[in-house]
Amino acid sequence: MIEIVNEARCTGCNICVRACPTNVFEAVKGGVPRIARQDDCQTCFMCELYCPEDALFVAPHADRATNETDAQRLREVTWGSYRDAVGWGPGRHSTAALDASYVLLTKAH
Ligand code: SF4
Ligand code: SF4
Repeated sequence: MIEIVNEARCTGCNICVRACPTNVFEAVKGGVPRIARQDDCQTCFMCELYCPEDALFVAPHADRATNETDAQRLREVTWGSYRDAVGWGPGRHSTAALDASYVLLTKAH
């Protein structure tokens, strides 16, 4: 579930506002987007993936908000880690060719 917009990193580009499929964010004129509808978050990581500044933290728990202790521990090590893992962003290399999820589809038939 989306947890934090890092105000120090965020440039207010609002890409995350447009990328979110469930309209969780609300643009703030001259500021950083607000997490306005956290309960609508589907933990899809699209916002984190598209954020060019690695300024978002989506916790892996889809069914509940992360408590503050979890969030503090996780955010120290995970800014942009999903984006990094899939190879999006300057200096990174796409890992799409390593994706083996198609194997699941072949087993389903
Ligand atoms: S995409 Fe990232 S930098 Fe842009 S507004 Fe959202 S959090 Fe801020
Ligand atoms: S994780 Fe997905 S649903 Fe949740 S705020 Fe980000 S883009 Fe929206």
